[in-house]
Amino acid sequence: MTVTTQAPAGRTLDDRLAEVLPVLHDESREVDDTAEFPVRGLAALRESGLMGLLVPEELGGLGGDLDDLVSVSMELAGECLSTALIWGMHCQQVAALVGHAGPELRERVLPRIGEGKVYVASVTSEKGKGGHLLSAEAPLRREDGTLLLERDAPIVTGALQADGFLVTMRDDESAPPNAVTLVYADRDDLTIEASGSWNPMGMRGTHSVAVKLAGRLPESNVVGRPGEFRTVATRSFIPAGHIAWAACWLGSARAATKAVVELLRSPSGRKQFDVDSETLRTRLARVRVDLDAIAALLSQVVRDATSEDDPEPPPIQLRLNALKIFSSERSFAVVDELIQLVGLRYGYIRDAPFPLERLFRDLRSASLNYANDRLLLANGALALLDREVTLAPAAGR
Ligand SMILES: Cc1cc2nc3c(=O)[nH]c(=O)nc-3n(C[C@H](O)[C@H](O)[C@H](O)COP(=O)(O)OP(=O)(O)OC[C@H]3O[C@@H](n4cnc5c(N)ncnc54)[C@H](O)[C@@H]3O)c2cc1C
Repeated sequence: MTVTTQAPAGRTLDDRLAEVLPVLHDESREVDDTAEFPVRGLAALRESGLMGLLVPEELGGLGGDLDDLVSVSMELAGECLSTALIWGMHCQQVAALVGHAGPELRERVLPRIGEGKVYVASVTSEKGKGGHLLSAEAPLRREDGTLLLERDAPIVTGALQADGFLVTMRDDESAPPNAVTLVYADRDDLTIEASGSWNPMGMRGTHSVAVKLAGRLPESNVVGRPGEFRTVATRSFIPAGHIAWAACWLGSARAATKAVVELLRSPSGRKQFDVDSETLRTRLARVRVDLDAIAALLSQVVRDATSEDDPEPPPIQLRLNALKIFSSERSFAVVDELIQLVGLRYGYIRDAPFPLERLFRDLRSASLNYANDRLLLANGALALLDREVTLAPAAGR
């Protein structure tokens, strides 16, 4: 991963989070009810400087690293998983820009991101190819030294609020589908036509709508080498994405667990629940096993992604994909178990004191948001290549 590791300057991350978290707390129920974008949460994030967490300090950002990405994602997700995912996916785009944008684009866009003026959305899914990340159908066209972009995007989180987009395109009309070029498109250079509505089961606040994007862009907006998105993906885009997603899902499941433990320990909870019950204790124990196992894998993947080593070998890729698969499945399982533990009154009613019912719906999307089936297929192939069955360093010694 090509992000700096300096400590964020000035106000601490905790100070910045303290400004943002109450806003997310207040807005979370409303955006779930209305399936609208969390405009107040995004405004608070812009104001706090956190939109520039991964932007280097010399370009006006906070110069944060992947550990900061994890801790901020987890805190945000403890209040509103939709807003946390919006922010985490923005950071994923920023990581790709920091690591792979050319000098002109860097100077033009990163300082504006650092100022909180540019929220960057992600356009990788496409109608024909579905979620597959490393292929694209719509071709980029080149005319008079500019790029012509026309892209149908079936699901784009925050498309109507974003100030910029990172878009995967087939490199040109004669290129094969795996010659993918990543392009930055400023909202001012695009016409954006929204189609369809957004009324999903969960993650309702992400307002992930279908749009058609069209526009003419400077050639310097290509991120990484033309046709070589794979390099950007393996070095920055996938690690930052899987780490941010896992941290968001883990943060939300941890907050739910904390709320349940507090309920069980409270005087009124002690009247309603038998904390000596073996069933209750076993359920809580299972929840902790999952939370600690996700956290351990997340820490290892952050170490992998921060090291100078080649990110391509199968064991590293296996762990990176495993993080997405495991955290999505087990964070959902944690909330399911907590619902079973506390029952209908606290777990199944929409206006219960803490939002287990909402999180259950939200986390159901985790295995679909980049289909786990695709990653399992990839990991099956990678596992056959790793004849030594190489595990994480501490376990493999
Ligand atoms: C809350 C949320 C926000 C999102 N935001 C964005 C965004 O901002 N930008 C964006 O581009 N996308 C976004 N997406 C889309 C997401 O990243 C996935 O691409 C999309 O959810 C995949 O949709 P799909 O399951 O219909 O399609 P596919 O990935 O095509 O998969 C459909 C199903 O087919 C099966 N399948 C497909 N291929 C294989 C295979 N090779 N092996 C085995 N099984 C396979 C699987 O069962 C899979 O679940 C978002 C999704 C969600 C849920």
